[in-house]
Amino acid sequence: MNEDCIFCKIANGVIPTDFVYQNEYVVAFKDINPKASTHILVIPKEHYASLNELDNDKILLELFKGVKETAKKLNLESYRTVINTGKGAGQEVFHIHAHILSGKVLPKF
Ligand code: AMP
Ligand code: ZN
Repeated sequence: MNEDCIFCKIANGVIPTDFVYQNEYVVAFKDINPKASTHILVIPKEHYASLNELDNDKILLELFKGVKETAKKLNLESYRTVINTGKGAGQEVFHIHAHILSGKVLPKF
């Protein structure tokens, strides 16, 4: 756990959060500033700052499985998955996360 990371605090229960999905490797929760009617973030419990730092193939696999399983649990048939990597791409929180966006209006990222 990275003490300075807000998503580590969420994943480890330091900041109480309702998880829409969780398993041994990932947690999923609602984005605080939704860009679509459904906007969920899926994060690994372990801290990796971004896709560039994610050097663990098991966690990479589990992150994508977590996206699928979260979408399935929420009965999302259609959804967009976005991972911003680096400030230039708009990454604001440096704990890797996959956005799940679904709903009538899906803005382009
Ligand atoms: P990104 O720009 O890809 O780094 O996405 C970061 C996302 O995290 C943004 O969509 C924020 O709205 C969201 N976010 C930041 N803090 C929180 C929080 N405490 N709980 C839920 N979502 C958050
Ligand atoms: Zn973290």
